[in-house]
Amino acid sequence: MEPTSGRTPSQFSFQAGQKPASRLVDRLRDILESPVIGPGDPGYDRARASFNTLTDHRPQAVVRAESADDVARAVGLAREIQIPIAVQTTGHGMGTSAPDSALLIELRHLDDVEVDPDGRTARVGGGATWDQVVAATAPWQLAPPIGSTGDVGVAGYVTGGGVSFLGRQYGYAADNVREIELITPDGCRRRLTAHDEPELFWAVRGGKSNFGVVTSLVIDLMPVSEVYAGVLTFGADSVERAFHGFLAWTRTVTDATTSVAVFRRLPRANEPSMAPHDRCELVINVVHVGSASSGRRELAGLRELCPDDDTVTAHPVARINALIPGPTQPGTFVSASGLLSGIDTARADRVLRAVGPEVKLSPGLIEVRHLGGRFSKAPETPNAIAHRDAAFALYVTNPAISVVHAAALASEHRALLATLGPGLTGGRIPTFLGTSDVAPDAVASAYATADWARLRELKRRWDPDNLFRVNHNIR
Ligand SMILES: Cc1cc2nc3c(=O)[nH]c(=O)nc-3n(C[C@H](O)[C@H](O)[C@H](O)COP(=O)(O)OP(=O)(O)OC[C@H]3O[C@@H](n4cnc5c(N)ncnc54)[C@H](O)[C@@H]3O)c2cc1C
Repeated sequence: MEPTSGRTPSQFSFQAGQKPASRLVDRLRDILESPVIGPGDPGYDRARASFNTLTDHRPQAVVRAESADDVARAVGLAREIQIPIAVQTTGHGMGTSAPDSALLIELRHLDDVEVDPDGRTARVGGGATWDQVVAATAPWQLAPPIGSTGDVGVAGYVTGGGVSFLGRQYGYAADNVREIELITPDGCRRRLTAHDEPELFWAVRGGKSNFGVVTSLVIDLMPVSEVYAGVLTFGADSVERAFHGFLAWTRTVTDATTSVAVFRRLPRANEPSMAPHDRCELVINVVHVGSASSGRRELAGLRELCPDDDTVTAHPVARINALIPGPTQPGTFVSASGLLSGIDTARADRVLRAVGPEVKLSPGLIEVRHLGGRFSKAPETPNAIAHRDAAFALYVTNPAISVVHAAALASEHRALLATLGPGLTGGRIPTFLGTSDVAPDAVASAYATADWARLRELKRRWDPDNLFRVNHNIR
């Protein structure tokens, strides 16, 4: 694609004597058709809000982007005046907050979804959520590589890998991308495919917002008309037996079944809110891509474990975004993650010693996601998602009631990861990097060593001033 048309950089220069904050908002308004909101304007707090309220953006301007050209113009101006650029769709996974010098580009309005049922692809706007994609694809009996939550943004999820509930059959979401339209740090609109800008195409599928703003992408859709899915719950007394049974069962399932075992601690009614406690249950979320009869066969081994509650049943593909319970309201969430290379009995006991019912931990979720299958196979067009030999992904998330509480939870997470120590590979998945994972070595752990060097080299080439640094930054 061509570099952005419109005003040349010289038309963006400041007038002497103006205050920087007001100048940026005014100058953006001069060059954009999209709304521009500054501190003090009505709607500023709504425009800068994130789903995870631990993120607290205070940018000098927010652009509510309504077109890719406006994104390009805004990036071009930010580059000219050398201010950091933050990119947000929903704020589920920013990792860090935009400082008062930054420009925040908010993408929720770039939410078009166009389905090509014959080619089994969808062109998705850079600010669309999975809910919007499912609404457009389900009538064609097609499913996207969605994760557990429909209100997560597609571009943020895909550029971080995207651990899908269809993933053992179809791989990471990042493995199912045909084309990306990216506004690069030089303010140009570029089309990335396996043949056009292949290096950037490799880097963006894993490198999150480090290389620019995704304004649209073309993803593969899967021929899925129904799924057999739901939740099996095991009460406190059977957590250990059920976890061992779950691990044994994962060795028997086909790639059509993807699942996650969740150690869930709810706040206790008559104790101080959010006090750590040992009462946990095990919840197993399952999605089987296929009919109820094949699903029943696959789940027989799990049902033999006698869950206290079992909601697994057949669902039309239109419900694929609403199968797994998760937080729907904004809140303060602290998370940590890791990867497990495999879990034999000794390792399972170690996990239970760290997170099982014998331990006091804060209310929240500790997930053990079953990987393998297509997750472990390199895609036809390589990308920056690595650590494909991991057998399980660990993801810990807790709601916090204050910043002080959030800090206490982060230290609880560090202790938990230290206890799990040798069972962890040291790697992570980019999409599961949290607010505690912004240090360079934490970000680097989400990539293979050689890929990290290649990402840094590409970052140096494409974003030498590190304008896109309000993220899990590749420095
Ligand atoms: C409740 C919950 C459930 C989740 N379930 C899963 C799951 O099942 N599987 C999984 O893999 N992950 C899951 N995640 C993690 C989630 O996928 C990541 O946090 C993802 O990055 C969120 O993207 P977003 O756009 O919604 O969030 P945002 O916070 O808006 O963005 C997250 C990151 O993506 C960047 N970004 C957003 N939009 C764009 C764009 N258009 N162009 C360039 N960069 C962009 C942002 O700059 C930021 O670095 C879950 C998270 C939560 C809170």
